Amino acid sequence: MRFVIIGGGPAGVHAASYAARLGAEVTVIEKDVLGGAANLWDCVPSKAMIATGNAIKMSQRADRLGLSTQPMYPDLEALKLRVSQITEKLAKSFDQLLGSQGVRVIKGSGRIQSKHEVLATLTDGTEVTIIADAILVATGSRPRIPEWAKVDGDRILATRDAYPPREIPEHLVVIGSGVTGVEFVHMFRSFGSKVSLVVSRQQVLPAKDPEVAAALEADFLESGVSLYKGARAVGIELDSKGVKVLCDDQRVIKGSHALLAIGSVPNSEELGLENAGVFVDRWGQVPVDHHCVSNVPHIYAAGDLSGKLPLASVASMQGRKVAEHVMGLDGRQHRHLDYEKAASAIFTEPEIADVGLAEAEAFAQGRKIRVTKVPFASNPRALIDGDPRGFVKIISDPATSVVLGGSIVGGHAAELISVIAVAVTARLRVTDIVESLLVHPALAEALAEAAE
Ligand SMILES: Cc1cc2nc3c(=O)[nH]c(=O)nc-3n(C[C@H](O)[C@H](O)[C@H](O)COP(=O)(O)OP(=O)(O)OC[C@H]3O[C@@H](n4cnc5c(N)ncnc54)[C@H](O)[C@@H]3O)c2cc1C
Repeated sequence: MRFVIIGGGPAGVHAASYAARLGAEVTVIEKDVLGGAANLWDCVPSKAMIATGNAIKMSQRADRLGLSTQPMYPDLEALKLRVSQITEKLAKSFDQLLGSQGVRVIKGSGRIQSKHEVLATLTDGTEVTIIADAILVATGSRPRIPEWAKVDGDRILATRDAYPPREIPEHLVVIGSGVTGVEFVHMFRSFGSKVSLVVSRQQVLPAKDPEVAAALEADFLESGVSLYKGARAVGIELDSKGVKVLCDDQRVIKGSHALLAIGSVPNSEELGLENAGVFVDRWGQVPVDHHCVSNVPHIYAAGDLSGKLPLASVASMQGRKVAEHVMGLDGRQHRHLDYEKAASAIFTEPEIADVGLAEAEAFAQGRKIRVTKVPFASNPRALIDGDPRGFVKIISDPATSVVLGGSIVGGHAAELISVIAVAVTARLRVTDIVESLLVHPALAEALAEAAE
């Protein structure tokens, strides 16, 4: 099986690694670094900077731990080095992994030439044609920049200009209150910037449980973030004093810098998809079935390009599923991907994470559910750590006790949600969590209590 992959992000790398283990002859064409935009621009640099911001916020609470400290400030040069070193290390480890599995990695741009031919244009301009029995297109996405915003990388920033920016903004206006937007609010607020957030609806994180969003809003307001709700940005003006973000309700938000976090667009242009008859929808995504197969049976799309859930974790799992399907694993070994069971996290402070069915969603469906909620306020570990904010909420089926979903707001939520994610995927019952012998003192004890 000759399997050619265009794009070495989470989807491409995981597909390559797993297909090679299953015996395929794999080629990956990557024009930038292995690990993809997730490693170079998105998940890794943003979380590296947030970790630095969290350390600053932690130092502000140090008195609760019996410490007195000097105020801490971010060092931009050191931060820049830190981010690039992590990216390089990860790219190198992917290189080593794929190398050890016999995957051929080509540094260059890939383009489909015909149904079974992919053209790789190497960085020195050399062209190589590779014959493929199966092709995966996993070229990811890039930030969406609206026509009314002239990003200059200096005062008007896209997310990719912020790792770190040339200076810490005195007053940053963040446009977009989805996951990416709120993470940047948290990051720059912890670096000491004054932050204003343009929220196009009446709630930050419009797609999330209102109780979860309310907890984050409360934290933002307490830390001095200004929320401009019901305002849609329609323009940005730049002058010697800074930026003015113009909103459709005539409000004008002044700041020193503006940052756009309003979604992404798939990288589906210039891939030659038309040469193989691959259908691309009007959003530029390649629609796929539950095996990630496009309308052409041996051509697959995964990751952000497939328009499912824009998460690196989902992209990786799609890559694995593609490898299984390419190698013809039978249905018994091949469990279909259920996007509704994907866990996700928001790396604010407190952290937010959820998985499976949400309370509001069940309510909208008229579905009977059992909801149990436990705050961290009385959790021994949360008190010991000096951060007893937030709660755990577990949603289960009242008839069968099967865990259907959950959300967590609080320290280490992104780690803790794994317990509920496993329960949801394995269809465990609440008693399976309650009767697990957990560690004490641990934040996870709140999960067992919430499952009670
Ligand atoms: C700011 C930000 C933070 C995020 N944080 C998280 C997070 O914490 N957790 C999470 O799960 N998700 C996060 N995401 C989402 C996540 O980054 C994406 O869902 C993920 O990167 C998608 O993976 P992918 O494999 O589809 O593509 P990508 O990671 O985008 O990789 C695609 C690769 O294809 C390459 N490529 C493109 N065109 C070609 C071509 N013609 N030839 C060769 N190579 C090509 C690119 O160079 C790139 O390396 C974040 C997104 C953003 C914007």
